[in-house]
Amino acid sequence: MRILVTNDDGITAPGLRELVNTLSEKHEVLVVAPSQEASATGHAITIRLPIWVKEMKIDDKFLGYSVMGTPADCVKLGLDVFSKGKVDLILSGINRGPNLGTDIIYSGTVSGALEGALQGVPSMAISMCDFDDPKYETGAKVAEKLVDEFPWELLPEFCAINVNVPDLPYEEIKGFRVTRQSRRRYRDYFEARRDPYGNTYYWMLGDVIEDDTSPDSDYLAVKEGYVSITPITIFLTAEDVYKELKRRMKW
Ligand code: MN
Repeated sequence: MRILVTNDDGITAPGLRELVNTLSEKHEVLVVAPSQEASATGHAITIRLPIWVKEMKIDDKFLGYSVMGTPADCVKLGLDVFSKGKVDLILSGINRGPNLGTDIIYSGTVSGALEGALQGVPSMAISMCDFDDPKYETGAKVAEKLVDEFPWELLPEFCAINVNVPDLPYEEIKGFRVTRQSRRRYRDYFEARRDPYGNTYYWMLGDVIEDDTSPDSDYLAVKEGYVSITPITIFLTAEDVYKELKRRMKW
């Protein structure tokens, strides 16, 4: 298969390198990824600045395109400019840290996959659920298995899968679970600090709220040792509210 790989941790990130090394054993891999970390940039695109691109070697083996832009920029550029011919699959990751619950709306990793879905290419975001030296080799094995065995033909246009991998050795993973995006979210707070000149700046922090007890929650699957696979789409209409409003709003 011809696979376009992007991420939001930047083209030099170890998660991307592990993924590319594993996939390239059997597949043709094209890397188009941000030149710098672009975590939590969501689905932003660059339209008021030039998008500088440099070719670079990854692990002295793979040609990659390092893009001064966002993951969504990378996917658009990859498909339109750098891929010579059809791309069969887009992978975004492997991210350092989970993309569970409301992380999805801030995530550059997930937006890379959703941009792929928007462009009509089957796409997957993949994240390791730990920030401290995650076991990317587990994530790469999971990615490889899904590339080979996931029923991609069942994934409708405009839909992607968001995959979260528990930070365990591959043999200790309990299995794969199809899940829903949970309402896992954060209670934000800000720490005020002073710069060397006496100016105040703020640092955003948050405590995670995990109160979604439905058994198909994405974060519960990961907590129980399963790989979470959530089908997601780019359209945000609240269907139940839409129907109720159509019924009630007669003015
Ligand atoms: Mn990231």
